[in-house]
Amino acid sequence: MKGYVAEVFSSFQGEGGCVRGSCFGKRQVFIRFAGCNLAEQRTPCVWCDTPAAQKRALGFARVERPGGGGGERLRNPLSTSQVVEIAEALRTPDMHSISLTGGEPLYQEDFLIELCGELDEKVYLETNGTLPEAASRLAGLLDYASVDIKDETALPYPVWPGVLERELETIRVLRDSGVEVFAKVVVTDETAASNLELYARELSKMDVPLAIQPVFDAGGLRLSVQHLQRLSQAAAEYLSAEDITLSIQVHKLCGMR
Ligand code: SF4
Repeated sequence: MKGYVAEVFSSFQGEGGCVRGSCFGKRQVFIRFAGCNLAEQRTPCVWCDTPAAQKRALGFARVERPGGGGGERLRNPLSTSQVVEIAEALRTPDMHSISLTGGEPLYQEDFLIELCGELDEKVYLETNGTLPEAASRLAGLLDYASVDIKDETALPYPVWPGVLERELETIRVLRDSGVEVFAKVVVTDETAASNLELYARELSKMDVPLAIQPVFDAGGLRLSVQHLQRLSQAAAEYLSAEDITLSIQVHKLCGMR
C-alpha cells in the first residue's frame, strides 16, 4: 500500500511536558504524514504550525538519510516498505520510539495501519483526535499518544463542539486499549479559564493527564505568564498537579525540526 508523506527525520521530541504518556526529550524518528482532514474541510486550526503538511497530494517527501545532511526528495506516494526502510536506517542507539505526526496521520488510516504492522519499534502517535474510528482500528499497534483538544480559539468554527466530542472519544478509545495517552491543548490570551475547567473535568473522568501548550511564534509567547498560570489553576479544579504540565515546543526554541 502507498501513502503520502511530508518528511521523515530523526530528532528529539520537543513537546509534551512532564506527564504520563509524554515522550518529551526522547530521541525519535519522525514520520510526518501529508494531509489533514480539518484543513481539507476548510476548518484548519488558526495556529497550525505545519501548514506545508495540510494537503495530502504533496508531490515529494523530504527524507533524511543516516548521518544527517540536507535530505533527499522522494516522489509521493511512498510504499510502506519504503517508509519502514527509511525509518529503520535512521535508527540510533538512543532512539526511543517512532513518532507518527502530521498533518493528520489517521487521515490515511489504511496506510498507517499497514505501516505500524511493519514497524519493529515503539510507536507514539500525535493526532488531532477527530477520527476516533480510525484511532480505534490503530490502537492495538500504539504505545503512546498525544491527542489534541482544540480550544475554541484555535478552531473558531461552528464545527467546534462536535470536534471536541470526537477528540474526547478518541482519548477514551485509546485509553481503553491500554495506550499511554495524554491530551494537549494549545492556548492563547483569548483562551477562557472556563474552557480549561471543562477539558479537565472530562479528562478526570477518564484518568487522562493534560499538557497545556502556549502558542508562540517569532515574537515569543503569545500570552502572558499570568494568564498561563490562571489556565493551569483552572485545570487543577479537576485534575491533580501530577496530571497537569506545561508543554513548550523546545525543539523550535533550539532550532531543531
Ligand atoms: S489539525 Fe494539525 S495539521 Fe491540521 S490544521 Fe490543525 S494543526 Fe494543522
